[in-house]
Amino acid sequence: MTKIINFKETINQKELEEIGSTLRNGKLVIFPTETVYGIGANALDAKAVDDIFKAKGRANDNPLIVHVANFDMVHELTYEPTPIEKHLMDAFMPGPFTLILKKKKMIPDNVSAGLDTVGIRMPENDIARKIIEEANVPVAAPSANISSRPSGTKIEDIKDEFDGKVDIIVDGGETKIGIESTVVKVIDGIPNVLRPGKITPEDIKDVVGIVKIDEHVYKKAEGKVESPGMKYRHYAPNSNCIMIYSEQDEILIEEIKKHLTPNTIIIGYLEHQKYFPTTKFYVHGSKNNYDEISHNIFSLLRKVDKEHPDLIIIEGVKKEGIGIAIMNRLIRSCSYHYIEK
Ligand code: AMP
Ligand code: MG
Repeated sequence: MTKIINFKETINQKELEEIGSTLRNGKLVIFPTETVYGIGANALDAKAVDDIFKAKGRANDNPLIVHVANFDMVHELTYEPTPIEKHLMDAFMPGPFTLILKKKKMIPDNVSAGLDTVGIRMPENDIARKIIEEANVPVAAPSANISSRPSGTKIEDIKDEFDGKVDIIVDGGETKIGIESTVVKVIDGIPNVLRPGKITPEDIKDVVGIVKIDEHVYKKAEGKVESPGMKYRHYAPNSNCIMIYSEQDEILIEEIKKHLTPNTIIIGYLEHQKYFPTTKFYVHGSKNNYDEISHNIFSLLRKVDKEHPDLIIIEGVKKEGIGIAIMNRLIRSCSYHYIEK
């Protein structure tokens, strides 16, 4: 039986203690963060970590991110950061940011999928922070979704997939950002963005003066990659899906019209809805509000998928700011089936 705990309005101390002891005792807890929901276990307990892989159906060569409540925990788990790494941590932690650091032996091998590094993240979401503090152990937590599916951002979607499979689900309402953290690894003194997110390459450049975006952010990864997660099918609905984008509205609308089928659902801009009066149309956001689009995109994909359209057409965004992260996710949602004009 899964216990649902509601922390939407207030965090109840007794229930918080129950969550803490559940984690310490090697059980699974799903909890909200500012990015997406995480499915968490005590990161120092290899058996508990193994249960995460099983619950998600995740490939065991795809490492987990370890969530911490403070810098003491970072120092306990990893070796001394380089000055650039330290700079990045000071600038972006707590926040939607994961830094790959050299790990100490105390982190079990299955957490890091055998790598000698570990992804560390310090969430800023109050519920997440309090849960980790209370558990008083680092918490390994990948996104709460069955592998290959869109990440969980609202409680109904989480319950659909994990009711009965975890001990506790903590309801914190819809997650604010809606897409996962920015993952960065410093290689030869240069921060490499392995997965884009709310913290943009520009934000990183502003702090340390230099940044690189990994070539696989928009491209299919084959062979050896810096981040194993890049190789896998990801964020995908079950329905056929194509992403279409042009900076010019007329071209974008015309291209969508070419692809319409009898039972297409469009996910697109508020401003474009009027051009498709006879097609089912869900709004992902307004044209200049990419934060709104990132917040909505995964839950919309799940919602549309339940209606079994013969095609989902998603309008893309400009690859700048958080638009880089949105396009990285959409390209994968559509299994690299996309048109940019
Ligand atoms: P998720 O747990 O679903 O948020 O996905 C975590 C992402 O971080 C995956 O794409 C992993 O490949 C990546 N990741 C985690 N740990 C490492 C690491 N040590 N080195 C490189 N990438 C990592
Ligand atoms: Mg994930």
